This record gives sequence, structure tokens and C-alpha cells, in this order.
Amino acid sequence: MPSNQNIQNDEQFRDKISTVDKSGKRIWIYPKKPSGKFTNYRIWLSYLYFVILFGLPFIKVNGVPFILINILERNFILFGLHFGPQDFYLFAIAMLILLVFIILFTVVFGRLFCGWICPQTIFMELVYRRIEYAIDGDYTAQRRLDAAPWNAGKIIKRVSKQFIFFGIAVLISNTFLAYIIGLDEVIKIIQEPISMHTGGFIAMIIFSVVFYVVFARLREQVCTTICPYGRLQGVMLDNRSLVVAYDFVRGEPRGKIQKNKIIAQPSAVLANDAEDYFTSVQNKLGDCIDCKLCIHVCPTGIDIRNGTQLECVNCTACMDACDEVMEKVERPKGLIRLDSIEGIEKGEHKLFTARTMAYSAVLLILIGVEVVLFSLRSDVEVLFLRTGGLLAQEQADGSISNLYNYQMINKTADSLSIEFKMLEPESGTFEIIGGKKPAVGKNNKSEGAVFIKIPKDKLEGGKNTILIGVYADGKLITKVKTTFFGPMK
Ligand code: SF4
Ligand code: SF4
Repeated sequence: MPSNQNIQNDEQFRDKISTVDKSGKRIWIYPKKPSGKFTNYRIWLSYLYFVILFGLPFIKVNGVPFILINILERNFILFGLHFGPQDFYLFAIAMLILLVFIILFTVVFGRLFCGWICPQTIFMELVYRRIEYAIDGDYTAQRRLDAAPWNAGKIIKRVSKQFIFFGIAVLISNTFLAYIIGLDEVIKIIQEPISMHTGGFIAMIIFSVVFYVVFARLREQVCTTICPYGRLQGVMLDNRSLVVAYDFVRGEPRGKIQKNKIIAQPSAVLANDAEDYFTSVQNKLGDCIDCKLCIHVCPTGIDIRNGTQLECVNCTACMDACDEVMEKVERPKGLIRLDSIEGIEKGEHKLFTARTMAYSAVLLILIGVEVVLFSLRSDVEVLFLRTGGLLAQEQADGSISNLYNYQMINKTADSLSIEFKMLEPESGTFEIIGGKKPAVGKNNKSEGAVFIKIPKDKLEGGKNTILIGVYADGKLITKVKTTFFGPMK
């Protein structure tokens, strides 16, 4: 029986990448247009993807974007809720959750994310590549066009294709910006004079050019040489991970047979021995007819029959191509399929291993911590700190006063007019330094100083705990505990 070891003994293909020749020059990939069940699923998924990606910046919750990731101004909005620098711990835990989730997902499903979810692959294979097929034709026509001399037809095709490519890059760039600075700002940059938004306009142009270069020129190089996630596959995958895999047990030894007929006849075989020879060879051959269609459709130019490779983005195009071939030669589909090495070698499919369960446990714990911390998060944070170096003072009316500095952080989309009330002991009063009523702008912070006065007889000793109610528009929004010093008893 052929083994994975046999297939992988010749590992020379790993010494180079399929898109660079010996002199280091780029080999341009012309993948054959894929078709089939999985391609159709991906096309439908991409439609859903585009609706979400291009639609989200238009959604607002109570007048604020549903999602905003403004790294420059450290302003983050998720599900309409503001998150500022003070919520960094939530952000850090969310990043940890994402990291553990990606590791767990990769351990179980391999690089399926790359082929089915990653924006790079979705835009490349399901937008740019499809436009290319529509304008230039399938892979053989594309090769011919590239080699053809420049004439009117070629110029029209090239110019129209690059024009559409750049137009889509502008659309992606503007959407990308809308996630960072908000859709309203992007519309202003588009509608108002450039002089009013020079920085934003330059950013728009830079992003558009970058996206254009990525999709029109760099293409699969992003996945095979730039993206760090692809590089990490070696440490995350194991023999139980699901990957797009060639069933070498069924497929080898490969040979050119079509519909039970050998089409590559060794010249040494004499005509009268041929029939016996065909029968004996056919019985020994595996299901792979070596048609190389799986290589022709591959957008990264690899031969998946060599085994799992870091260039494979799990786009599943080779699965469709091979299934079509298997159908034609009346063999079972799935010679290339989503399976693990163990699944192919032993027929075992064990997703719940000690490793996946350990990652799942860590993930659940992190999610639990995030949910608890999130539920404890308040929209307005207020801090009272006794001003250092000042002692408690006895006032003429017999009350004791302490000076405090307060700091308020407003994470909501509304400006708030604030009022402090003493909850415990109730008879405490506030005297704002400067006399101005405390207020805090939307998604902003403010500071101030205040004298807190408490009747002497309400104090229990030198150190007392007091409870302050913080009200906005007459509504209690949070309570703050702090320490109040009085005379020793
Ligand atoms: S498409 Fe299938 S049959 Fe053809 S070469 Fe690839 S694995 Fe073999
Ligand atoms: S080997 Fe198959 S799944 Fe992997 S990138 Fe190529 S076509 Fe896609």
C-alpha cells in the first residue's frame, strides 16, 4: 500500500515556491477557472460577505456607527458602544480570545479561514479573478493574450480591466476608511473640497493604490510569502487537522487512465501483449489519472498531491476539479477532499483530542472573563481622590470638609450634565470649586475639584467610607465609594 512517507520522500518541491523560477523571477500564475459545488458555495458565501462588509459602515445605533475602529484617535465602537483607552483590558482579552480561537480553528479545520473567509482570498478569487475571466477568458486565453503583440483589442482589454480593478480598489479603500474614521467623514472627504480634508484624501489615495497593487500584481504572493498566518501553519497543524488533502492511499500509483482505458501506452509493450498489460497495470493503478487539473485550477500554482504545503490556502478549487474528473472516469468523488492525514491513512477522524480540548477550555475561560468584565463595565466612570497634602478642616457650621479631585470618563454618545449627591451619609454636601456644574462631553473625559462636607456627628472616627451618587439628567448612573477623614474620636 502506498504511504504518505512514499509520497513525501521526494520533498524537493519544498525547496522552492511554485511562483518563483530558479533565477528568482516571478512565475505568473494563470489558474484555470474553477467550477463545481464548492466554488458555488464560495460564490454565495462571498455575496453574503460583501453585503456585511460594505453594509456595516451604513448601520448606526442611536446615531453612532455600529462599528468603528479608529486606532489613531483611540476611539473604538463595537455594537454601538464606545470603548476608550480605559477599556484597554477588554480589548486585550478580546485579542487573546481571537488568537486562541484562530489557533483552535486552525488545529481543527486547517487553513480553511484563508480560502473561505480571508478578505484577501475572497476579493482575489471571487472578484478580481472573475473579472479577469470575464474580460480575458480562461487560463489558456489569458496566456495567449499576454504573449500576443499589442493591438487595439489587447489595449482595450488591458485598459478596461485595470480601470475596473482600480475602481474596485477605491471602493475597498473607502470602505476600509469608513471602518476607521466613520462613513460620515468618508462622505465629507468625497464631497467637500480636497483642501478641507488633505490628510484624509491622501490616505484614500494611498489605500486605493495599495489595494490595487495587492490584487492586480501581488496576488497569491500575499498568501505564500507575506501573510504571517500562512507561515504559522507548520506549528499549528497536526495529523488530525482537516486540510484540503489528496487521498494518496486511493490515488497512487497514479497513471493516465480514462474511463477504464490506459491512454499512455509504454512503447516497449508489443501489440499482442497490450491487452494483458493494460489489465495488469489498470489493476495496479490508483484512482488518480494524472490529468493535472488540480494543478491547473490552483491559484497558488501547487500540486496538492505532494502533500500539505504552506502555499495551499484551502480554496477547495482542486476538490471541485478532481470531483469532476472522478465523475467522468466513473470513480468515487473525494480523491481530493477535506480530510486529515490520519483520516486518509487510517480512516480515523478524531476532532476532540487533548490538544483541541485544552484550547477549547482556555477559550471558554477567556470568554467567561470577558463577559463578566463587560457586564461590570459602566458607561460613565467616576473617580474621587482626596487631594494630597491637605488635612480635613472643621467648618464654622460644625461640619468637616475634605478636598477631592474627581475625574469622569463618558463612554456614551451623549454629553452629560452631572450632579453629585451624598448617599451615605445622606447629610453630606458638595461644593464644586469654581462653582461650575460638572459636565462631560460625549466620549470624553473631564476633571475638577470639589469640597465634600459632612456633619461631624455623622462621622465615626478618623477614617470613614462614604458613598457618592453620580446623576446625569436626574438619573443615577453610577455610585462611587471613597474615604473621608474626620477628627479622631
Ligand atoms: S485532478 Fe484528481 S485525477 Fe487529476 S491529477 Fe489531480 S488528483 Fe489526479
Ligand atoms: S492546493 Fe487546492 S485548496 Fe490548496 S490552494 Fe491549490 S487549489 Fe486551493
